[in-house]
Amino acid sequence: MDPTTSASLRSFIDYDPSHHFPIQNLPLGIFEHGGRVRAGTRIGDFVLDLALLEEKGYFPGLSGVFNRPELNRFLSMGQAVWKEVRSAVSHLLDVNTPGLRDNSGLRSQALIPYADVVMKLPVAIGDYTDFYSSREHATNVGTMFRGKENALMPNWLHLPVAYHGRSSSVVLSGTPIHRPMGQVKADDLEHPVHGPSQLLDFELEMGFFTGPGTSVGHPLDIKNAAGHIFGMVLVNDWSARDIQKWEYQPLGPFTAKNFATSISPWIVPLAALEPFRCKGPEQEPAPLPYLESPGDWAFDIELEVYLQDHLISQSNFKYMYWNILQQLSHHTVTGCNINPGDLMASGTISGPDENSCGSMLELCRAGTRPVQMPGGGERKFLRDNDTVKITGWCQGEGYRVGFGEVAGTILPAVN
Ligand code: MN
Repeated sequence: MDPTTSASLRSFIDYDPSHHFPIQNLPLGIFEHGGRVRAGTRIGDFVLDLALLEEKGYFPGLSGVFNRPELNRFLSMGQAVWKEVRSAVSHLLDVNTPGLRDNSGLRSQALIPYADVVMKLPVAIGDYTDFYSSREHATNVGTMFRGKENALMPNWLHLPVAYHGRSSSVVLSGTPIHRPMGQVKADDLEHPVHGPSQLLDFELEMGFFTGPGTSVGHPLDIKNAAGHIFGMVLVNDWSARDIQKWEYQPLGPFTAKNFATSISPWIVPLAALEPFRCKGPEQEPAPLPYLESPGDWAFDIELEVYLQDHLISQSNFKYMYWNILQQLSHHTVTGCNINPGDLMASGTISGPDENSCGSMLELCRAGTRPVQMPGGGERKFLRDNDTVKITGWCQGEGYRVGFGEVAGTILPAVN
């Protein structure tokens, strides 16, 4: 077993057992402090400055990898380097290691209170792909759009459906989102109109960042796919349902989703998620051999969505029908290449219950059953000034490996 995930590990930094960032997590992110932007990891309520540690020689063989405004170079280096850095950081933060613990000068330089930093996008994202891998979500939406009998399209159980999204508008948690303008057509009107979306929605998703790239013309064998995935973040794939409904045929989502996608700032490495791997849903019919998963690749990650401070949905990443290795292998099956730092999102993660729906569209049954808000109000879709927060964590024995949150507030449309 990887010693960096042991439940018995303790750090000399104090934190609560429910804290998202214990020594078993060690996520990577990019932060700004003192006018400089660089890479760090998170431990409790502190950020550990990896650029400083690199400069001081704590990562033999690495130079200039962390003193950069994005993690792409580190992502490109692959599992052996990822593992070395993770082991070194885990050892340094261990309660039994005197090095950093007893060096108050180094501690005050290297450990920065989280409250004093500004987080940045962790990666220069080259390409963004959004899958559609939750059977419950695809069934819920398909039923609303096409009726129960035609809910799942004929291809759905045979391949992980996706569309190529827009990376330029992937923004960090906390970035306000302007209600999109767009073209919509009401069923009872003859002509479409141009105006602010009236059916603005969130999508509860997670995404993974790719590591070492592949070359054009060379499909990735599913047995090697895990080595090309560094870690995961929370994703909110904002969606304008009225624009989507009018524009989506025949080529899929376009302007209904290209205005913004929000992600959480810390990338939790697959290494930290390893103890939480579990069996996914039974796949019937059996996938074609190139999509045969080498073992269990679902993850038990609890997910919650809040509107303002009101809990409106509870789901779990383990409900995903298609797993991340199947998604990545299918993405490259044609020889399509990937680059370090591509973002691949899961698609809306809905579960089997009424309260495990990952979008307003499903929660309010296309507007027929509004979500009740405390104080007597209700919501079908998002209003201006609404704030959506998604959080998620894996529950270990006496600790949590968490993702923090991805939050965003809706601002009025800019005409
Ligand atoms: Mn989506």
